[in-house]
Amino acid sequence: MNPVRMDNMTWMEYEQRVKAGSVVFLPCGATEQHGPHLPLGTDALLASAICEDVAREVGGIVAPAISYGYKSQPRSGGGQHFCGTTSVEGATLSSLIRDAVREFHRHGVRRLAIVVGHFENQWFVTEGIELAMREIGEHSGMEVMRAEHWEFCRKETLDAVFPDGFPGIALEHAAVIETSMMLHYYPQLVSLDRIPGHGPAQFPVYDMYPARTAWVPSSGVLSSAKDSTSEKGRLLVADVVAGMTKAVRHEFALDEQRGGQPSL
Ligand code: ZN
Ligand code: MN
Repeated sequence: MNPVRMDNMTWMEYEQRVKAGSVVFLPCGATEQHGPHLPLGTDALLASAICEDVAREVGGIVAPAISYGYKSQPRSGGGQHFCGTTSVEGATLSSLIRDAVREFHRHGVRRLAIVVGHFENQWFVTEGIELAMREIGEHSGMEVMRAEHWEFCRKETLDAVFPDGFPGIALEHAAVIETSMMLHYYPQLVSLDRIPGHGPAQFPVYDMYPARTAWVPSSGVLSSAKDSTSEKGRLLVADVVAGMTKAVRHEFALDEQRGGQPSL
């Protein structure tokens, strides 16, 4: 049994942990093509693994991931024309988040951290939180953090991981950050020998509808993942886990004296 996963607990164990004030983490990913070398579940898998590492530090609980995300965009995820990319409407994602927040509130959860692992989800997740908070009321005692995990990567680390310059997070789809993090957490799911050799995709600063699929490399990879290593993944993940742990402890005023053990 994994001691931080909600889906591994009985409802009584879960209730006891919630009553003791545990932070609940909700990973929010996508089912989306990630090139020939990474699995379709990459965004939800990474968000879940990061949540589990942070939850172990703060005695938290990780809820099952929301594994369908908002529509993949050509300039940040390759777009909707790839087989396997399975997306939901913005209103659907917002409703899912709203319902989940409402349910956690009903359980008695007062500290909820929603960790976004798919670039296109950000504003629809925000909308879901806003709608739930409006219903629950500002004085319910529930507080929600929303975070994109990659925002916790420090500049020093990005400089070390990208000696030739960081191409920017949007072009990082299936590229060095995600591939290195996957090598760290799920090496058995990465096919290094299938990484395409082409350079970064060249996009204009605007979008066109219907999407100009010719703008997107046919591999689905937006910039090369060639320089990915598990060591880079370890460095990036260390930043993210440390930064998120610190933020969660600070914002939810967790008692540092418990030494990070579950407050059972
Ligand atoms: Zn991704
Ligand atoms: Mn994505």
